[in-house]
Amino acid sequence: MIHLHGGQAVSITCRSDFQFDVGAMLDAIETNRPNLVILTTPNNPTGLAMPFSDVEKIVRAAPGFVVVDEAYHEFNTEASALSLLDDCPNLIVMRTLSKAFGLAGLRLGFMVARPEIISEMMKSRLPFMVDRMSEQVALLLLRNQELVKDRVQIILNNTRTLKEALSSIDGVEVRPTNTNFVLFRTSADPATLLNELADKGVLVRNMGGYPELVGFLRVTSGTEDENKAFLEALNSIVGK
Ligand SMILES: *Cc1c(COP(=O)(O)O)cnc(C)c1O
Repeated sequence: MIHLHGGQAVSITCRSDFQFDVGAMLDAIETNRPNLVILTTPNNPTGLAMPFSDVEKIVRAAPGFVVVDEAYHEFNTEASALSLLDDCPNLIVMRTLSKAFGLAGLRLGFMVARPEIISEMMKSRLPFMVDRMSEQVALLLLRNQELVKDRVQIILNNTRTLKEALSSIDGVEVRPTNTNFVLFRTSADPATLLNELADKGVLVRNMGGYPELVGFLRVTSGTEDENKAFLEALNSIVGK
């Protein structure tokens, strides 16, 4: 997309522990003076969040817009970047109903920014971009966020239980997460393991397409029963 608009992308690789390399990001901002900085926190696929104080540093250091993608915000223990909006007119926060709200099929996300930015964006917004039904459902949910609070708590508990159970399997390495998915690797070949899990009706994703994540699989936490089915399937493969 950036190339399509004649821009040049500078990407900053995460550190070897998958944490954001905030120092390298700040250096790159200083050197390149970019028109646009994109942060995804908590990040997909590493699962890790950037500390709020670092997000603030980046938003304040950037000469142009900073888009903070908060798709996994509801699972995050760090504060949202939203509180910086009053002070930082260059900030744009993006959210989605696809994750914690469980409504990926609605195809609805939204951005929060200062009115002067939104009104500029409205000029290029496609007409009839969101259907009335989705809009009404989204407004209802956003006005009654307590409706999803319990759900989020259940997902967080299930994710923690899943993570602990995974760690207790011999030879399985599990990474910390600030999301509803868990990155893990075993001594088994990831592609083979993925296929064997699929044969047992469990779908996970191979993260090996990212050079930093070679060997890792990503499992999204589901219901208690779904997580149990995954753990049983995994145990029967790597435990044998
Ligand atoms: C899921 C996700 C989104 C939003 O996806 P939509 O379903 O298109 O709203 C945005 N950013 C990240 C990092 C995601 O994982």
